Formats: sequence, C-alpha cells, structure tokens
Amino acid sequence: MTPDVRDRTGRPSRRQAARGGVIPEASWRRAVELIRQADEVALACHVTPDGDALGSMLATALVLRAMGKGVVASFGDHHFDVPRLLRFLPGQDMLVPPDSYPSAPELMIVFDSATVERLGLLAPSASHAREVIVVDHHASNTGFGTLRLVDPSVAATAVLVEQLVYRLGGVLDRDIATCLYAGLVTDTGSFKHSSTTPAVHQMAARLVATGLRTDEIARELWDRSPFGYLKVLAAGLDRVRLEDDLVWTYITRVDRAAYGLPYAELEGIIDVIRRTDEAQVALVMKEDDQGAWQVSTRSKGAVDVAAICAALGGGGHHNAAGFTSHDSVEETVGRFRGLLAETTGEA
Ligand code: AMP
Ligand code: MN
Ligand code: MN
Repeated sequence: MTPDVRDRTGRPSRRQAARGGVIPEASWRRAVELIRQADEVALACHVTPDGDALGSMLATALVLRAMGKGVVASFGDHHFDVPRLLRFLPGQDMLVPPDSYPSAPELMIVFDSATVERLGLLAPSASHAREVIVVDHHASNTGFGTLRLVDPSVAATAVLVEQLVYRLGGVLDRDIATCLYAGLVTDTGSFKHSSTTPAVHQMAARLVATGLRTDEIARELWDRSPFGYLKVLAAGLDRVRLEDDLVWTYITRVDRAAYGLPYAELEGIIDVIRRTDEAQVALVMKEDDQGAWQVSTRSKGAVDVAAICAALGGGGHHNAAGFTSHDSVEETVGRFRGLLAETTGEA
C-alpha cells in the first residue's frame, strides 16, 4: 500500500491529489486563474438537481463567497424549487431563480452536467458566457464549455470540487464539507456502489473530520418522507412488472396529486424496485408536472444502461442512467426493452 502522503494541513499532497487524475495540471491552474480574476461568478448545475449537482455547486458558492466574490447559483427548471431532501444544504441564500440569472456571465461554472442541454433554462447563459468551466464526472460528457475539469474516473463531481477548494486556498469548513458529503454519499449510493474506492473513504474521512453530522445528513436524504410517499410507492408497487431481465413500474401525476406529493419525492422509488433478485435492470417512469416521463434506470453491472439511455436521448453512468420520454408508458418501455434485448443478445 502506498502511504497516505499529506501536508501539514491534513490535505492530500499535490502529488497525491494528482495521482491517477486525468485532468491536466494546466487546466486546474487556468481554472484557479479565471476564478481569481473574476469579481462575479455564475454557477449552474443540472435540472432537477441531486445531491451531487446541488452539493457541488453550493460548496463552490460558499468558497467563492469566502473569497469575496459576487456569487449567483441556479438550475434551469421551469418550476424552480430545491428538492425537499436537499433543503438542509448550506449556502442556499445564494440561489436565484433562472429568470434572475445573468444571460451572458463573464465566468460561469457548471456542475455535474454531461451536456449543455442538462442545464435546461440556463443553457443559453452557457452559450453566451465569456468563459464556461465544466466540472463533471460523466463518461458521456460532450466536451462543452471553454475549460473542462472532467474526470470520469471519480465517484462524484464533489470529488473534483474538493480539489478545487484546496487549489483556491479555501478552508474546508463544516458547511462546505456538508455540501460535498451530500454529493459523495448520494453518487456512491451510501458508499455501496463499485465507485466506492479507498479514495472515496479517505475523502469522506476528511469531510467527517470537520464535525458534520453523518446521522442527520442520512436522515435528511433517505430516512424521511411525507405520508403520501408510502401511498404513491404502494401504487407503483401494485403495478410493478417483471419481464425477463427487467423489473419496472410507473408513477403518474394523478398518483401524486391525490396526496399533493411533489415530483422530487419519487427519487427513492427506483431503489426499492431495483432490489429484485430476478432482474438485472430496473426502470421507473415518473411523470413530471409538465406531463413528460422522466425515466430512471439502474443496472446491477452486466448491462450498460447509460448506452441504452443515450440511444433514447438521455445519458448517465454504466449502472445509473435516465432519459426523458413524451410517449406512452407502453411505447417507452417497449423501446427500452428492445434495446435491452439487443444488448443482452436475446431475440
Ligand atoms: P436518476 O435516475 O434521475 O437518479 O438519474 C441517474 C443518472 O442518469 C443521473 O446521474 C444522470 O447522469 C442521468 N440522467 C437522468 N435523467 C437524464 C436525462 N433526461 N438526460 C440525460 N441524463 C440523465
Ligand atoms: Mn447528478
Ligand atoms: Mn454526479
């Protein structure tokens, strides 16, 4: 085992930090330079943000504010609302709705978005910004932006943001660590996914050492929901189907309306469905408030769901991916099953 080389502050040394990284040192230096020069920085993450997207963005917002920068942060949903599960994250006073976001920022930093389209209403701002730094870990990243800090080998965008914090000379305080921890723990599925490397646990140790409350964060993220969630989950479970390698169900707007349950509350349902022993792949179609189907898919490893979802206009990671559909439940699942059968070599 290579010893854990650290400087006196307890941070990983530059050498250790760079080990295995695919981001050129010159790109990190350029990012720091662009940020140091800017008076105002506009931050954005992907629509319907998860813990990694919002946590990475807010951690950066907190560091930039401490550096004396003017900061705005947002995500481009039509219905701009922080998912209830993520409302405990610090730094939310820097959030502005998309219609108050600068249309042509001097410097924009984008988090956890593989494509410019994932920015939703903020995509035009990225097109008109002078500089766009993209911080991301999706293998499917299209290479947009003027400077890319993209490393598909890391478990979360938050891993890259921790690097950025250090390189900016920022202090990893408890608020910043809470944001980063939310990203790390969300994208590794509570340290259960295969992306959970020793480096992930070492990062978690640095974050927990700031005094954050892992018990409270876990409860906020996973162990609470409104009563209506149980009823909506029951509706989804009632309709669940097992077809060959695929277990799937769907949740409609009508299911949610009966209990006033917001769309964002549906995020955990895929984790119930995917436990099915008989299936390699799980899929949940979730109808959003606009009537579009947001489709979540998960694989146990044998199937690359990112490839299938990409073919359907979406994207994601090998074991967790998604796409949007405007067609019926039957058509959407039928198309997915067709591609799944091609992948697994079935007729
Ligand atoms: P989710 O099922 O919403 O947790 O999403 C799992 C992963 O799939 C996310 O981390 C995204 O990378 C990706 N993803 C989900 N929905 C879409 C979409 N409509 N377009 C592109 N990528 C998506
Ligand atoms: Mn994400
Ligand atoms: Mn992520």
